[in-house]
Amino acid sequence: MKPIFLYLSIFWLATISACSSNLYRSTNRSYKKQVKNYAKLLREYPVKDSSGLLFADIWVGTTNFTMRRPNFVVIHHTAQDSCGQTLRTFTLPRTAVSAHYVICRDGTVHHMLNDLLRAHHAGVSKWGNATDLNSMSIGIEIDNNGSEPFTEAQMNSLLQLLDRLKRAYNIPQANFIGHADVAPGRKVDPSRFFSWHLLADKGFGFWFDTTNVDVPIDFNALQALRIVGYNINKPDIAIQSYKIHFVPHDTTNVINDTDKKILFDLMRKYQ
Ligand SMILES: [Zn+2]
Repeated sequence: MKPIFLYLSIFWLATISACSSNLYRSTNRSYKKQVKNYAKLLREYPVKDSSGLLFADIWVGTTNFTMRRPNFVVIHHTAQDSCGQTLRTFTLPRTAVSAHYVICRDGTVHHMLNDLLRAHHAGVSKWGNATDLNSMSIGIEIDNNGSEPFTEAQMNSLLQLLDRLKRAYNIPQANFIGHADVAPGRKVDPSRFFSWHLLADKGFGFWFDTTNVDVPIDFNALQALRIVGYNINKPDIAIQSYKIHFVPHDTTNVINDTDKKILFDLMRKYQ
């Protein structure tokens, strides 16, 4: 290569890398500013209160505490066409949505928010008695348009990430769930292409075994769905979310004999 072309190439590469590092400079500044404000909030004790509650004259702070920890992981697909598009969505204030992690098609992981802060990923949601999943969970978005398989690189990164989170926060095996599970009817992610079976094999969520199951005659499948965690206020959409997760090839909303076996077995694992 002639020296002039070499210099031009170096200049071009330097320009490209400078642009990509500058792209999020102002939103990163916004992140740091918000974290600084929350840090300030943590230092504000005793809290000034005008509710009329009979607070003691002297303040005594305990010496024994840690940060609150996430206890659930909620998995999503982005329903967008690229990681770049999702990073942009999560850095535009007007969208008001975010996640702790985004996993790109090549397996690259973007850690967009400290695990101890609350991301806006689950929205109106319910799982068991938990009604504010955003406050108690880590949100993971997988770059996928919703009608395509997830890549091997993505699944490998996801499994590594789940392993880290499970260890770091001691998250129970039952508490690895999908957006569709906690928001039936409103959400369908991650799609039927997502392998919850693979995740359960690695210790994230449970899977069923229908071979040695004798379902009692008075078995109530809907109550079993409730015990697993589903909000059964609207049975049809609860069944739809259950099928997306556990019987992805079945697009009906009908509970058949196999479903009864599946649910009887799952119920025992989730309760
Ligand atoms: Zn989602």
